[in-house]
Amino acid sequence: MKYPLLAFTALCATLASPASAETIALVGGTVVDLAGKAPIRDAVVVIEDERIQAIGPRASTSVPSGARVIPMEGRWLIPGLMNMHVHLALNLPGASRIYNETPDSMVLRSLDNAQKSLHSGVTTIRLTGSDAGVDFTLKRAIDAGMFDGPRIHTAGSSIVATGGHGKTEVNGPAEFSRAVREQVRAGATWIKLGISGGISDTHGDIGASPFTDAELTTAIEVAHRNGVKVTGHTGSPIASEVAIDAGIDAFEHGYFLTPPVLKKMKQKGVWFIPTIVVSQSGAKEFYRKIGSPPWYLDRVDSVGKAHIQSLRDAIAAGVSIALGTDQYPWEPNEGTTATVREAEIYVDAGMTPAQALRAATIEPARMLGVDNEVGVLKAGYYADIVALDADPTADIAALRTIGFVMKGGKVIRDDRQR
Ligand SMILES: [Zn+2]
Repeated sequence: MKYPLLAFTALCATLASPASAETIALVGGTVVDLAGKAPIRDAVVVIEDERIQAIGPRASTSVPSGARVIPMEGRWLIPGLMNMHVHLALNLPGASRIYNETPDSMVLRSLDNAQKSLHSGVTTIRLTGSDAGVDFTLKRAIDAGMFDGPRIHTAGSSIVATGGHGKTEVNGPAEFSRAVREQVRAGATWIKLGISGGISDTHGDIGASPFTDAELTTAIEVAHRNGVKVTGHTGSPIASEVAIDAGIDAFEHGYFLTPPVLKKMKQKGVWFIPTIVVSQSGAKEFYRKIGSPPWYLDRVDSVGKAHIQSLRDAIAAGVSIALGTDQYPWEPNEGTTATVREAEIYVDAGMTPAQALRAATIEPARMLGVDNEVGVLKAGYYADIVALDADPTADIAALRTIGFVMKGGKVIRDDRQR
């Protein structure tokens, strides 16, 4: 009897011990309060295993004996950033496009981009369209602790009506329900529908609404019956309006969101993931780098003006916004990363720095339904923590100074230790 019991105990110990079994204390930093309350100055954050065990001012929060102390003087602590529109194996039109890419190449590129994203301060991502199931493979490997990487929520393959902006092309309600169920079976916790065309499409009208009502309502109903939320890639006010009526949960890009659509989004609690960086000046440098054709650059220019207006109007209308980039979270953009630049443009478009920080942390956590675990620095929450050299509530550009990244209690990056 003894042997199996011992084996079982050993197995439990293996499963239960995450990468960091030690106690860590981040001492002397300023913990930023994103709800608008006063920050905690000269703070102590005690981390045990994966989670924050205690957080408070040094005067009332003791550092456990034996804890590894990491000095945080002169640093501001915020929750790890969350990027809600990511493709880890992006493959856009242009000279650098990879044709006939194999899944093994995709998964390696995805892993590389996931690790660079985490290093840049992004501790949670939502994937909004991946191919060949590589997103599920990668998520399982990261969740199992095989590789460092951000927490992954994924929509699997993007579902569209034939000819639409997405990978899995289906027709009629029966095929839509099957396609949704297949993604859920594979592990999708979101469904992504391409309800209108995209900037990179060479056919069709981006302003059109190609789904039939039955296709749209069926896809959304089947997803909801499986407890999975639905987001729509949209560049069309008509398609957006129809999708809101059909019960959609979120919109990506929203290049052309009109005030009536925004009003309806606010009323129905539909989320907006702007991905504003894809249509603004910083992206053009990127598109030139990857050799995008001239027609694509022209289209980005014209769409960009409407897109930023949609964002301004959405902020003014009080629509719930969760940050997403549609570029790699770490992609260089105007001297910083796409994720940080996206937050900066939110401030240019009308948010306060605190609102933009919320759009990059607690708001995505709320949208994903994990706001009891991440998105806030609080006892009991995962220790997903980023440290900056300046106060981001005074100037959002402080996000450019990220020099420390912790995910689930594991120090991923500390520039001061190098
Ligand atoms: Zn996208």
